[in-house]
Amino acid sequence: MNMKMLYKLIILIPIFTYMSYFFIGVITTYILRLKNPLKKMDFSEQKIYLTFDDGVDSAYTPELLKLLKKHNIKASFFIVASSVKKNKELIQIMKNEGHIICLHSLKHHNQILQFPQQIKNDFEESIKIFNEQGIDISYYRPPWGHARLYGMYLCKKLKLNIVLWNIIIQDWEKDTTKEILCNKLKTKIHGNAVICLHDGRGKNNAPLKTIKTLETMIPQWQKEGYMFETVDKLF
Ligand SMILES: [Zn+2]
Repeated sequence: MNMKMLYKLIILIPIFTYMSYFFIGVITTYILRLKNPLKKMDFSEQKIYLTFDDGVDSAYTPELLKLLKKHNIKASFFIVASSVKKNKELIQIMKNEGHIICLHSLKHHNQILQFPQQIKNDFEESIKIFNEQGIDISYYRPPWGHARLYGMYLCKKLKLNIVLWNIIIQDWEKDTTKEILCNKLKTKIHGNAVICLHDGRGKNNAPLKTIKTLETMIPQWQKEGYMFETVDKLF
């Protein structure tokens, strides 16, 4: 083997190894989505599970909590653990008002791109942050719904139930509007709807549009006879 060939191999082998590692993560995610039990629920049962990802956000989460309180609705919050320390009071309000606090990773990193030690640290540091606030975590939603087999193994070991969704309306998009979001919800709604919404991280005030959408949709859903549940009732 000449030197040129050797140099090529030195560069190509790590790239190929990483690409294979990435590809395995993509396949695992595909299987996780395919086997999502929420897609096989009884869609005739008039229940809605409102779930919110990417908070806590000091600007939007309080507005959302006010709206939920006004309608006496309990929701499930999938929280990015690194946002907890700056928003301890909001977390306690959430807890005291009967909402379910769940995990959405430490810093919203994509599990497919993480190595095993990083995935392990992500879970351990996140759980520690919540425990310091007196909160036990039992439910987990991976960012973008992307998960590796090792992440799923850790969930089992840490007794975390993975919760995906069966309705998603891209409410994080910067060009979306309240009208677009209302229309999507009206078209997609069904019984036992586990709706993935966002109260943080969205561009161009996206979470505010989500809140405005719910201001319209919640009274309509209540009129139609829907009951609101939290994700702990799924298990
Ligand atoms: Zn997210």
